Amino acid sequence: MTKLKSISKLSAWFGNLNEPLIIAGPCSAESEEQVMQTAKQIAALGSVNIFRSGIWKPRTRPGNFEGVGEEGLQWLQQVKKETGLLTAVEVANHEHVELVAKYDIDILWIGARTTSNPFSVQELADSLKGFDKPVLVKNPINPDVNLWVGALERLHKAGIEKLAAIHRGFFPFEATPLRNIPKWEVPIELKSICHDLPIICDPSHIAGNTEYIPEIAQKAMDLNMDGLMIETHYNPTTALSDMNQQVTPNQLGNLLEKLVYRTTSTKDKDFANVLEILRSQIDSIDQQMLELLSQRMGIVEEIGNYKSKNEVTILQLRRWEKIMSTRIKLGKKLGLTEDFVKKLLQLVHKESIQRQTEVMNKISFKKE
Ligand code: PEP
Ligand code: MN
Repeated sequence: MTKLKSISKLSAWFGNLNEPLIIAGPCSAESEEQVMQTAKQIAALGSVNIFRSGIWKPRTRPGNFEGVGEEGLQWLQQVKKETGLLTAVEVANHEHVELVAKYDIDILWIGARTTSNPFSVQELADSLKGFDKPVLVKNPINPDVNLWVGALERLHKAGIEKLAAIHRGFFPFEATPLRNIPKWEVPIELKSICHDLPIICDPSHIAGNTEYIPEIAQKAMDLNMDGLMIETHYNPTTALSDMNQQVTPNQLGNLLEKLVYRTTSTKDKDFANVLEILRSQIDSIDQQMLELLSQRMGIVEEIGNYKSKNEVTILQLRRWEKIMSTRIKLGKKLGLTEDFVKKLLQLVHKESIQRQTEVMNKISFKKE
């Protein structure tokens, strides 16, 4: 069980934050003009609490725009003075922490690549000892909830109680139009491990494209997440990083207006949340089930090829009987009835034979 106790409530961080918490701003600070124009337009919306901006950019390959560095922190100070927005910056090492303290940045976040590395997180936790600023921890690149919890625990052990998690999705191994797979069950598991921890969703990095941001943001609200971090740029077509996923302040305003927040009574709200959580677990399990079945069929075809080359029959009765008896036994152990497992396997087996027949026919037609 996690040692994440006495986590501060979001509303207690600065005394006047709206919930859900809305964080917006460019992927990267690029110029004084870009930062100030974007911040002023965002502040004019009235619904954003925090201005985000990358100052040091963790790029997958060297040679891309790696951030403006210390100079950008001065622009953020100006944002604070002129707009009243709070400021948030990504930190990845001790030097970054010293600089954000020097320029009095309000909130720090730890990026996905950094969370993935316990050495880096520990270095940050050591330099953040005694800090009273909130720290937001993005999920690691891979869907490992323990790595995420571990990073939060390291910071908590360093005395940081103003903590929140940011869900930004996970590296996709499967084909998807999204940049990162949301795997909603992972932040849900984090919440069930640590009930008091606020979780903010970053639909921009999940989507990778502005088109998908509204539906992902809505899903986060339906799951009762505590806020959103949305990349916003006054002129995204000129952005030096993450150009496709940044919205304009105007688009951000529309998106926030269209979001449906739950307004039902607490009791109904809890009920709807539980239902939504359970449904997204089912969605995720169904997806995994279908992916596994598709993998199984792939192997079946391979076997079909192999059998055909070696001129062996498709149906191997003894193998089939063994499959049935071992699976029924396993099913029983897992609380599934014999009847259900039998029917399921018969269906899978029928499809497998069909696939193998197709493979073998193709091969024998080729031979002719
Ligand atoms: C970012 O927020 O700009 C960023 C680099 O995100 P992530 O760490 O989620 O990739
Ligand atoms: Mn970005």
